[in-house]
Amino acid sequence: MQYLKGVGPRWGELMAGKGIFTIEDLVLTLPFRYEDRSRLLPVQALVEGETATVVAQVRTLAHARTRSGLQVLEMLAGDGTGSLRCIWYHAEYFRDRFQSGQTLALYGRLTREAGRLAMRQPEFEILEHEPEAELGESIKLGRWVPIYEAIGPLSSSHLRTLVHRALAALPPELDDPLPAELLARLGLPARRAALDQVHFPPPAASLEQLQQARTPGHRRLIFEELFFLQAGLEFKRRRIRRQPGPRIEIKPAIREQLKRVLAFHPTGDQKQALKEIAADLCSRHPMRRLLQGDVGSGKTIVALEAAIIAIENGWQVALMAPTQILAEQHYLYARSRLPGYRVALVTSAQRRRGALPAPEPQLAIGTQALLEDRARLPRLGLVIVDEQHRFGVLQRFRLMQPGDAAAPHLLVMTATPIPRTLALTLYGDLDTSLLRHAPPGGLPISTRAVPASRAPEVYEFVRAGLARGRQAYFVYPLIEESETLDLKPALRMFDHLRGVYPEFRLGLLHGALPAAEKQAVMADFRAGALQALVSTTVIEVGVDVPNATFMVIEHAERFGLAQLHQLRGRIGRPQPDARSAPEQSHCFLLHGEIKGAAARQRLQALARTRDGFELAELDLTLRGPGEFFGTRQSGMPLLTVAQPVRDHELMELARSEARTHLDQAAPAEHKRLVAHIQRRWQRRYGLVEAG
Ligand code: ADP
Ligand code: MG
Repeated sequence: MQYLKGVGPRWGELMAGKGIFTIEDLVLTLPFRYEDRSRLLPVQALVEGETATVVAQVRTLAHARTRSGLQVLEMLAGDGTGSLRCIWYHAEYFRDRFQSGQTLALYGRLTREAGRLAMRQPEFEILEHEPEAELGESIKLGRWVPIYEAIGPLSSSHLRTLVHRALAALPPELDDPLPAELLARLGLPARRAALDQVHFPPPAASLEQLQQARTPGHRRLIFEELFFLQAGLEFKRRRIRRQPGPRIEIKPAIREQLKRVLAFHPTGDQKQALKEIAADLCSRHPMRRLLQGDVGSGKTIVALEAAIIAIENGWQVALMAPTQILAEQHYLYARSRLPGYRVALVTSAQRRRGALPAPEPQLAIGTQALLEDRARLPRLGLVIVDEQHRFGVLQRFRLMQPGDAAAPHLLVMTATPIPRTLALTLYGDLDTSLLRHAPPGGLPISTRAVPASRAPEVYEFVRAGLARGRQAYFVYPLIEESETLDLKPALRMFDHLRGVYPEFRLGLLHGALPAAEKQAVMADFRAGALQALVSTTVIEVGVDVPNATFMVIEHAERFGLAQLHQLRGRIGRPQPDARSAPEQSHCFLLHGEIKGAAARQRLQALARTRDGFELAELDLTLRGPGEFFGTRQSGMPLLTVAQPVRDHELMELARSEARTHLDQAAPAEHKRLVAHIQRRWQRRYGLVEAG
């Protein structure tokens, strides 16, 4: 970048920070909107409140200073039909640019100052010799003008100039990475034409298409990005499928074993998912499968069945959970469901002390710490990752680097449903099984959004439930679970609630507690020794205590939709071990002042539906993909041109075209594609490893 005229080392660095290293990166940085500056009017036709471009001559210039010392330049400009006042602040920057008699093109919104039509801070272009021809060549006036996201001090108009310069310097014909046959069939323009169109649209372009990134040029560039993303994911899929995987067979004895493990009849969805998983495991190649299901859809048992299949074939299985609490819960559940198997809980504390417990476990359950210890799982045949989206894509890519001769089978489970468009981006290299319908026995939840001022009524309602032997969660928001975080509000809440419920035992749970203490609190709550659990969002994922049928979420307006849905998923669970007859669950969203329509919509949606897929789609539209995944390092691929939600239809097209193309292409073409993906994508995603 920095060798482009006008870009020094400082700007070069700024741009590098945004992933713009090359001219190609620059011209693929598209405007985020366009301004119609094409309307050219005589002064007499100007209307206050509208925007327009005018060509006029400078009549008078006057410099002044406001009381606060601001330099102001006032200009009177006229075109024979009338005259117009133009006002600039901070005028020192161009005090010597104007002379009377000069011809200018001016663009801005029309206001009225002291009875006369005026423009404040208009955009301008000085037209020296041939006004008409010069205006025709202007990149900022008299046309559709691209507006770019500023990069710090690099403004939209700086970027516009640089992009224009870069495009002008490129040869008229550019190498096109997309196959010509494909472009012709889909009616998409060549790369060069597309770039020209999206940056400097011709007068005939449709503003609506421009703003929605739907011009042929836009579609072409978006398709290109998605095509290579999908091709990369597809290469990854295929490469894995050529490798040998841990060998697995399902003998009749295993089927018997599977039946014994189930405490209930599996749902149709669960049966189907297990069938797909079993087929993968027996395929001799490493499984790469995503198990998608809403909160409470019954993913755990499917995972345990997969584990049994692997174990019975002599393999070790690792089950990785995002939190200590969840790892422990899985451990307890697995021990109770899989008697006779060697199940071990592997925590980072244990790892620090030394080896895994002997004898070698058949099923090792733990947090990420587990996988840093691959050496101690010499016969690892299956890795199960629970509640995946906490881990992030990049971690998953690392996890899936096949280091060993036989890469283990991998089953990834999501915490919340992921809208298809995003699933295609994030998990496009995985096959998917879907648990669409919840198992029977789940109980209705009444969800109500209640202003915090009415908390006392809610507390009384919950008291009645606790008195009947039910349990409750009180959740307090903390953005991140970390020791450095200010826990005071949660602690205060705990004290307050102890005062509200002197007759019950309350436990406190948060991320900064020592692991042993967390474990003890959860065990007490599970056993019913604690009636209520005051908690931060550490209970968000997967915790399963069926007797807990009340949930009060404080400051609900601060949580995201997906997170609220997850939290609520802790109640309304099937109740095999309920201490009294099953009953409806209650979720209260206590909220402070709700700022903004989005927060209100979130709470309303939650009260309306429990359908995780519906909520996920809504969350995605309300917050956009980055936020959807909660954290910056969530590993959402850094798409530069495409936006998964807006471009879902092009994503589907790119996926099917990429697959078809790879099926039909000759080896040389595969090589070319891989080289292109490596060049453009490797830096960002590690999608295609060498070879
Ligand atoms: P999630 O998909 O959120 O991980 P879980 O695996 O924790 O869901 O299952 C939710 C609850 O449903 C658990 O209490 C589990 O025992 C129960 N469950 C799972 N499958 C069935 C089934 N087929 N019939 C009845 N209950 C089931
Ligand atoms: Mg779960």
